Amino acid sequence: MHPSQWHTFLTLCTQLSHHQRLAGIDVLGKATAQNATVALIEQTAQAQLQCPACHSRHFHRHGHAHGLQRYRCVPCRKTFNALSGTPLAHLRYKERWLDYADCLLGSLSVRKAASQVRIHRNTSFRWRHRFLALAKTDRPHCLHGIAEADEMYILESQKGSRHMTRPARRRGGAARQRGISNEQVCVLVARDRSGQTIDFVAGLGQLTKARLHACLPPVIDRDILLVSDGHPAYPAFAKEIGILHAAVNLRAGIRVRGTVHVQNVNAYHSRLRQWLRAFHGVATRYLPNYLGWRWIIDARRILSPESLLKATMGSFPHLKVT
Ligand SMILES: [Zn+2]
Repeated sequence: MHPSQWHTFLTLCTQLSHHQRLAGIDVLGKATAQNATVALIEQTAQAQLQCPACHSRHFHRHGHAHGLQRYRCVPCRKTFNALSGTPLAHLRYKERWLDYADCLLGSLSVRKAASQVRIHRNTSFRWRHRFLALAKTDRPHCLHGIAEADEMYILESQKGSRHMTRPARRRGGAARQRGISNEQVCVLVARDRSGQTIDFVAGLGQLTKARLHACLPPVIDRDILLVSDGHPAYPAFAKEIGILHAAVNLRAGIRVRGTVHVQNVNAYHSRLRQWLRAFHGVATRYLPNYLGWRWIIDARRILSPESLLKATMGSFPHLKVT
């Protein structure tokens, strides 16, 4: 602003009532927050910007919309912006996104996040899953060396579903049958000794060899030593794909045989279980989002709201090469 404009501005400010000043501060605060968020979004998208309809990189600037630079694709004539085709497209209140990302990093409940960021709780719920949709894909590509694998079971939940396929349980609830049944979702977790962890929602009921085949081969190195408890599916699977396997006989009270143990993966399970407890049962269809969210926090690769916002657009911190 020109000095004379500042002079006029400051003179006007002294004539404002207390309420007008507060309203002014609020507007300026929102505008600053929105500008910071927009700058971050534009900058994150810059490197990979392309037309979401035809993937062309041939486009021109075409005005602004919703605070973002708009582009027009030359070959297909469609317009788009930095958020088109991302899970954040069409979400409002950009000035609150970084605060919301901070709530996710703090594992806040839907209600707490809603009141902290001043949005409706339905919006808070929608944002949670939009923010996690791509951010949860920040995973190691492959496990190396010694990898521990173990399964855990989480009570299946149709929370929030309009069409239940069974009678409702009371909130939280308990399984009707003892032991592992189709009321439980099998979550398989594999973790190598460098701490890289990959998990899978492996389906309802007991872990089977077929499920191990469906989950593990694309993400394990062929030179790996797979370590598990005494579940018979693991040695059978390992034999069929030709990898080394070792088991700890937990039933016989043997928890560790030198480097052969599943203590790291079990510790991961217990952190996950404890963390999930605060959500009072999560809908099974959202379970992959929660597993990804847990990994974001556990792996400590994403530590600031800014890097979480970038991750929601699919831009992740560089992987350390080990
Ligand atoms: Zn196009």
